[in-house]
Amino acid sequence: MRELSRIREEFLKELSRVRDLKELRELRSRYLGPKGVIKELLKRIKELPKEERPAFGQLVNELKEFVEENLKKREEELSREELERKLRSEWVELTVPPGRSLGALHPVTIVLNRIVDIFKSMGFEVEEGPEVEREDYNFDMLNIPPEHPARDMQDTFYVNKEGYLLRTHTSPVQIRTMLKKKPPIQMVAPGKVYRRDDDPTHSPMFHQVEGLVVNEWANFRHMKHVLESFLRTFFGKDLPVRFRASYFPFTEPSAEVDIGCVICEQRGCRVCKGTGWLEVLGCGMVHPKVLENCGIDPEIYQGFAFGMGVERLAMLLFGIDNIKLFYENDLRFIKQFV
Ligand SMILES: [Zn+2]
Repeated sequence: MRELSRIREEFLKELSRVRDLKELRELRSRYLGPKGVIKELLKRIKELPKEERPAFGQLVNELKEFVEENLKKREEELSREELERKLRSEWVELTVPPGRSLGALHPVTIVLNRIVDIFKSMGFEVEEGPEVEREDYNFDMLNIPPEHPARDMQDTFYVNKEGYLLRTHTSPVQIRTMLKKKPPIQMVAPGKVYRRDDDPTHSPMFHQVEGLVVNEWANFRHMKHVLESFLRTFFGKDLPVRFRASYFPFTEPSAEVDIGCVICEQRGCRVCKGTGWLEVLGCGMVHPKVLENCGIDPEIYQGFAFGMGVERLAMLLFGIDNIKLFYENDLRFIKQFV
């Protein structure tokens, strides 16, 4: 009996040293094979006195079952580990096509270019500004007071340098342009903007295009015509467009612009929440204070401004319901827009 328990311990020790299925097979044949430890034990039954044989036989059988059970358990573990190792080593990025292929524009870039090209065709110039922006250009000069909730840490990414932030809209480019140039001004500012926002329709980084017109005769009707022409050209059809009164600190009066839902043709769907309308733009007449802040006399000049989210327009144009798809860079998605 002492020898049996010694064998049992020896077996467990050896089992713990087994590292792969090949070593496990060797261990199995050493214990359970035709010349294995168990067979040898059974042969020795004959050497025992008759009355001790049944008890010894049973103990050997128990040992055999113990060995079989433990070998089986270890075999399952090792097979699983080996499969995982194999999968890891043979992992292939299936969305990468074999061979060489030409690069192409990202869907957001395609839509951004489309927006900018339409405004260029209407005589707008393209202006750009930095993404790390002065806080006063991003807020104060635009008539957004220090206590305004948009300036909260919860909405804005501030950088370590005092008085600077990641721009929350491309409006500071309007300020930069008005400080640099005298009217008449007719410009669009495309670019990346940053907000603390993260859900299926919002991303912490997204793209905007804003526009600004300043001259001696700009008016609401002029703006309405420009934006209606833009939207109908962009979507390539004669869409219903409506202007709703709204509020922005930098424009007065202000409006939000809706188009008839492009998904359901105004019958009502999940995207338009059953209303048949989709909000696509914000706009308004430039607040006299903003003109004044930039050294432009509001008694002589007036202006209008507008802004739109590029991803939002891209989602509507292509019928995409999750903004994250634009940033995951899955070629199966991206290739659809080439
Ligand atoms: Zn709809």
